[in-house]
Amino acid sequence: MELKLYNTLSRKKEVFTPINDIVRIYSCGPTVYSYAHIGNFRAYVFMDTLRRVLKYNGYKVKHVMNITDVGHLESDADEGEDKIAKAAKKENKDPYEIAKYYTEIFLRDLDRLNIDKPEIICKATEHINEMIEYVSEIIKNGYGYETTKGIYFDISKLDKYPVLSDRKVDEQIAGARVEVDNEKRNPEDFALWIKAPEKHIMKWESPWGLCYPGWHIECSAMSRKYLGEEFDIHTGGIDHIPTHHENEIAQSKGRCGKIPARFWMHCNFLQINGGKMSKSLGNIYTLDTLKEKNIEPLSYKLLCFSSHYRNKLNFTFEGAVSSNTSLIRLREGYRAHLLGNEKVEKEIINELEEKFHNAINDDLNMPEAMGIVWEAVRYPKKSKDMANLLLKFDEVLGLRIDEEVENNVEIPEEISNLLEERKLARENKDWELSDKIRDILKEKGYIIKDTKDGSKVEKI
Ligand code: AMP
Ligand code: ZN
Repeated sequence: MELKLYNTLSRKKEVFTPINDIVRIYSCGPTVYSYAHIGNFRAYVFMDTLRRVLKYNGYKVKHVMNITDVGHLESDADEGEDKIAKAAKKENKDPYEIAKYYTEIFLRDLDRLNIDKPEIICKATEHINEMIEYVSEIIKNGYGYETTKGIYFDISKLDKYPVLSDRKVDEQIAGARVEVDNEKRNPEDFALWIKAPEKHIMKWESPWGLCYPGWHIECSAMSRKYLGEEFDIHTGGIDHIPTHHENEIAQSKGRCGKIPARFWMHCNFLQINGGKMSKSLGNIYTLDTLKEKNIEPLSYKLLCFSSHYRNKLNFTFEGAVSSNTSLIRLREGYRAHLLGNEKVEKEIINELEEKFHNAINDDLNMPEAMGIVWEAVRYPKKSKDMANLLLKFDEVLGLRIDEEVENNVEIPEEISNLLEERKLARENKDWELSDKIRDILKEKGYIIKDTKDGSKVEKI
């Protein structure tokens, strides 16, 4: 069956066939300076679904994801402080300690979401030599030049820039988005390698002095190292399109004349109250926030399937609670089939399988695929064949539908608000207030258990 994927590069759905037998994928991973929020995880649920759909279609995959532990400045356009260095200063810790801590939590959360991990997870700070080599090659080919601030990429040397987005470089007034730098040949030239000011914490020896990498070069260097000059799919969030991925393409053209990936796939944003959920806006929720309200991480994954990955998804707690109930119904439905002894015709099973396969192969149309899953769950005759079909679907969903249904507690709004207040108190290390709220909750008939996996509420 044909697999079609939307390619941001061509702005249309294309039939996917890999270059070699193994599908090579690169995904832009997290910047580990803080907790990843559920908005970030929408991008990784999408990455997971893509991997699983490829595998469902019989492909083997070699998948690489980076961990950005240096070089991502506050603005994507080479401005502001390095996010990790800033967090290190704020928390008075070593930047490596910061990165290690948030990486571990990120990987734990991938497990909680049953996200199939990429074969290779690589850190920017462990690939400094590859980046230096990459920058040197770009300079040798005439695409890079040195200023007092660093090494910049000369976009005027390219046949076309940008290629992924349709923003107009010429129409952009220098300084409107990027600070004017008179040493740069073109306002949109971007940093490959940045000369470190004396007090900068993370810096490395290089042919151009003590420097640190620009954000985009790490992905070019690591994707090339592990996947070669040209691979199959590159994924990320839509915010990567205009700058990060555009510049990765520019760098690769500067080094070897090629666009590194054939397919560029981007996940749209999770919104909250109609706006972006982001760390910088301070309106984020983590999987722990959901857990405290008894919404299990996999319910959030199910919620992600309610919208196509290229559409926005608006987050509400009501929606998350309802997904939690749906996940319970899904597991109960699976169990009813597993215990059933009725006969379901093979044609019915085959037809459902085909419809599901069609949906996922139509650019990962998960809302439609879920419609078929529910058709199977609700099928009136209960049979093991249907249970097996659901297990097969779960290879793509990764919802652990064969897991025992836990006794879930309905949380009234008053309790949910108290839980939120307690979470804030704990974040502010206000243990007195946190204990006080715990006592109020107890009076109201709920106990809280703080585990290494977050807090859980139970009815007394
Ligand atoms: P960062 O850790 O900031 O580099 O972002 C990690 C990933 O999360 C990137 O792929 C972003 O595009 C993605 N991302 C950030 N915010 C959101 C959001 N609100 N919804 C969906 N994806 C997001
Ligand atoms: Zn990247």
